[in-house]
Amino acid sequence: MGTSVKVLKFGGTSMGTAEAMRQVIEIVRKPQKDAAVRAVVVSAMNGVTNTLIKIAHEAAEHKAYKALLEEVRVRHLKAVDDLVSAKNRVKAHKEVEKMFRYLADALKGVELVRDVSPQALDYVMSYGERLSAHILTEALNDKGVPAEYLNARHVVRTDANFGSAAVDFKTTNRQIAAYFKKHKKLQVVTGFIGATEDKKTTTIGRGGSDYSGAIFGAALKAKAIEIWTDVSGVMTADPRLVKNAKVVPELAFEEAGELAYFGAKVLHPKTILPAMREGIPVKVLNTFRPKDRGTTIVADFAKRKVKSHTVDALTFKRPITIVHIHSPELFDANGLMAAIFRIFEKYRTSVDVVATSVTSVSLTIDSQQHLPQIIAELATLGRVHIEQHKAIVCAVGGGINAAGVAGKMFTALGKSDINVEMISQASSAVSITFIVHERDAEKALQLLHKEYIR
Ligand code: ASP
Ligand code: MG
Repeated sequence: MGTSVKVLKFGGTSMGTAEAMRQVIEIVRKPQKDAAVRAVVVSAMNGVTNTLIKIAHEAAEHKAYKALLEEVRVRHLKAVDDLVSAKNRVKAHKEVEKMFRYLADALKGVELVRDVSPQALDYVMSYGERLSAHILTEALNDKGVPAEYLNARHVVRTDANFGSAAVDFKTTNRQIAAYFKKHKKLQVVTGFIGATEDKKTTTIGRGGSDYSGAIFGAALKAKAIEIWTDVSGVMTADPRLVKNAKVVPELAFEEAGELAYFGAKVLHPKTILPAMREGIPVKVLNTFRPKDRGTTIVADFAKRKVKSHTVDALTFKRPITIVHIHSPELFDANGLMAAIFRIFEKYRTSVDVVATSVTSVSLTIDSQQHLPQIIAELATLGRVHIEQHKAIVCAVGGGINAAGVAGKMFTALGKSDINVEMISQASSAVSITFIVHERDAEKALQLLHKEYIR
């Protein structure tokens, strides 16, 4: 490869209109200081995947679906008209029309069989990304940016678990490297889709284009992966709750994970795992405000350039239930802890936070679905006590493990009469979590935001 490259991924809103796609083209063609753009991975135009699913189901149920399909077709043709100049338009239209013919044939099949299998649905859904990628390719070429369309089915190998197929990284990485060796032009790649060994089209899970971006970035050993979306990055807190919430400039992968787990709207860390394994930073950027610096998610917490004594972002999750188990036997029975967890596992109820003392264990759960059974079984191990209407507050930050941070945090909360329980600090030292009453969650968030972030 030699020179450094990067991979850009654009989501559904960025691809949603000709206007937005024009922005995309500006971003792609802008001379890059750090690395050349080698691949652009795209989502379907926003809403199209959902519409295709709806159409497929209606076809299977023998309901009228053709008008809706026509709407989708017109939307794509219109995008071509708006983006591609007259001299190239005929060719661009031709390919779009061809895709719609194949799609119509597939839907006819669904209609005749009166069944839409997950396999058929993946095939139908794949047209969303195929169309958007094709249109962007034509538009780029039209604007003098040489680009080639790449259907990810040719390189992304998956198993046959339609709807959320697992990627075979060994084959995929090899195939991507080989393909890019032969194709030197900028590649416009369909996100979200792959294929099995016997060439059946698969999808890798809803919202999977971010994952595709990371897959291509990792396979190409990119210097950076940029996820272009409609927000300016990960926020310090939910802006609906905290007025002066702002974008967090940098986060470690682990911190993003904690935030996502406790309810923050961030790029799902699972989707960028391939990038993290290769140590490639992932930037979250705003297509509609390209000058905003966005958030960079770095692979290695240890490499974070942090200011000490600080919290970088906050979130909470509610409602939460606390389950306390008191047993004098906890004192010396190691097996008891395992027995307690086995009960939660049996009922597939995940435990978020755990605190122990010599004779008691407290755990939090966010699902009450099996609570009566869980209580009944726990009662054979000790005295059980339940507290409802709680919230987990989670603070993350590169400097959060510094001396005094937790102290200052709980002093501030105490002064405002917010009761805090079950404080826990992850061993990786990226976060502090604690439980408050559900009605205090917002206040706690606002208070800590003011204290640490401003
Ligand atoms: N178009 C797909 C979806 O809506 C994948 C993506 O946009 O990430 O789920
Ligand atoms: Mg998305």
